[in-house]
Amino acid sequence: MAVSTGAHDYAPGVVEERQQASWGASGAFDTPPPDERAPAYIFTAPPFPTGALHMGHVRSYVLADAYARYRRATGSAVLFSIGFDSFGLPAELAAMRRGEEPQEWVDNCCDTMRRQLKRLGLSFDWSREYVTSDEEMYRWSQWLFLTLVERGLVYQATGWIDWCENCQTSLASMQVEDGGCWRCHGPIRVVHRKQWYLRVTRYAEENGTSASAAAAPEQPEWQAAQKAVLGKLDGFEVTARAADGRELPAFVSTSRAVEEVRCVLMSPRHPDIDDWVTGEESREQLDGLRKGGWDRIERGADHVPLLWAGVDLALPGIDRPLPLVVSPTVDSRYGETAVLCVADGNRTDTRIVERLPVMERPTVDTVALRAAMRPATRYRVRDFVLSRQRDWGAPIPTVACPACGDVPVPERDLPVTHADRGAAATCPACGGPATHERDTLDCHFDGLWWWLANCVPADARGTQMFDHPELRRWLPGDCLIWGVDGSGYVFDQRAIVKALRDSGEMSWLEAGEPFERALLHEMVRFDGRKMSKHLGNVVEPEEIVKTWGADALRLAVATAAAPRSSFTWSGDGLKRSHAVLVRLWRFAQRIGPEREADPGEDRGDPHRRRLARWCEAAGKRIGEDMESFALHRASHNAVELLERMETFERRVREARGDLDGHDRAALRRAFLLLLELSAPFIPHICDELWAQLGEAGTATGRPWPLPPGSERAPATPAAL
Ligand SMILES: [Zn+2]
Ligand SMILES: [Zn+2]
Repeated sequence: MAVSTGAHDYAPGVVEERQQASWGASGAFDTPPPDERAPAYIFTAPPFPTGALHMGHVRSYVLADAYARYRRATGSAVLFSIGFDSFGLPAELAAMRRGEEPQEWVDNCCDTMRRQLKRLGLSFDWSREYVTSDEEMYRWSQWLFLTLVERGLVYQATGWIDWCENCQTSLASMQVEDGGCWRCHGPIRVVHRKQWYLRVTRYAEENGTSASAAAAPEQPEWQAAQKAVLGKLDGFEVTARAADGRELPAFVSTSRAVEEVRCVLMSPRHPDIDDWVTGEESREQLDGLRKGGWDRIERGADHVPLLWAGVDLALPGIDRPLPLVVSPTVDSRYGETAVLCVADGNRTDTRIVERLPVMERPTVDTVALRAAMRPATRYRVRDFVLSRQRDWGAPIPTVACPACGDVPVPERDLPVTHADRGAAATCPACGGPATHERDTLDCHFDGLWWWLANCVPADARGTQMFDHPELRRWLPGDCLIWGVDGSGYVFDQRAIVKALRDSGEMSWLEAGEPFERALLHEMVRFDGRKMSKHLGNVVEPEEIVKTWGADALRLAVATAAAPRSSFTWSGDGLKRSHAVLVRLWRFAQRIGPEREADPGEDRGDPHRRRLARWCEAAGKRIGEDMESFALHRASHNAVELLERMETFERRVREARGDLDGHDRAALRRAFLLLLELSAPFIPHICDELWAQLGEAGTATGRPWPLPPGSERAPATPAAL
């Protein structure tokens, strides 16, 4: 229970420390044991241990925290916690730069970031936190790997992969940004290697469909983001035939201008590429590419490699066969497939046709060609390359046996630790001598399942995870709140849930969706650019909190923009927020802790009647705002109510010289309502002033106020 300071000046540092200690002591945010209340699991993405929190984190966590606090107030049993996504290349390289072991760097980062998160007053249940590089966590990444290998959803294949020479590792396609490495921005080569892949594509179609079906209609950007990852293209397919009768289905996105078709383009990652590239010279060229790779930078239509397969293909309605050409320009546009290259189709195709040797213009019977085209679909989404040639990740649980090849380690032998990598082992298949795999899993793989780790109590994780009974209580979760850059992760998580549903592990998740709702919020900008260390335009949240307090930062982030819009960080917004908090503080001092005998509600006076109407409207609106994640509107409406109360005070003084007992009682009721409505986003000051006014309990612990006369039914009447 917080105590009143009686102080007249607003000192956020003192207030916030006291309230945080009070929440901790009372267990205000502990995960509640099962009761009659509806469970609500609110998930927010774990940060990478980068050293310090940035503004993007603050935006995510302030949005999620306000929503979690609101859910508690409306009577849900809330599970809300956090974790650290601590494996991965950035952590490994940061540690190397400092001459530290990755474990040491991660431990230090987590300590710092934990302290910064706590200082923001986020209502996490810290007993449910996880660190993905802990053995009790990564053993489940290994378990999932083995399970998915068994189901054919993780497979080994030799294929073309993106390779960063600087980082000395393979990259997944989503880790290639603007043709460069997502981490070092260096050039990328495409090389041919044996790797483990995640078969995302098996659930691509269902993921695309269920994004529309499962998402509420007010979430168009969620659907759009998921469809963008899927990259679904509806078009046509036509069968091309070689002289020896072999068939190659070729895709075209539109039937428009097909008479301008000049060749068939094939992705070098096409699963049947080796069957088609048979000419001796082209075979040599392809092998050359496989040894040396080619530069990503050369993928522009002017310089991208074009490779003659050495075979011509007949198409219906065309009087002569057209050449088959291998080119990586296909992948990013259509996926790992073959397509008709139409000179009039788009700029890339037109440029490629210009680079072809001059040939006689074919005569095309468009009626016959169109008649042979059947509706078809292609997806740009690609299977994810999982293996990394790095140290800091979950060791891939396989052994290399000279007789059997790569053999999965039995589940009972998990975890395979970092010390095991490359060590001698016994082949589980033949019992002969073998060697533990050296490669590790990309941290993306941990992300396929860490979203459920909060649901399992920390002390159970050593032995139970995917079959823990609490999963059935919390899943599907109420809501996922994440930056829009997490879309790719979310897509794969949704695919994994479908896989575990179909294999029986999560059969109770019938819709195959991990969450009922999602908020993918936009970024924080500065100087018109994304705020990032790389650009050197970083504002340190920790410094802001030291000077202005957590509530001022929370309010500034809340009011700055709609969650689905990006906003440009400005110091002015912060100062305005601080000024609002000071006004709130001073208002409480005027009301004072002495509680007069409340003469009861009397709406006879027009000023008081108006104040009561404003309160009703604010209560109704802020409730609706919180339901729809519109924290910017909720905080604006709260500030507006404060202004209305100031107006009421002024007008009554103008009319009557001073406030009477009824006026003071009405104002006190309005102020307490304002504290209840604002507690989700500025919790410290609301709880402090609640105590200063001599009220029992906390504003945080109060049930959500239902505006008198409101039609809106409470979420769970029993709890209210
Ligand atoms: Zn790199
Ligand atoms: Zn063997």
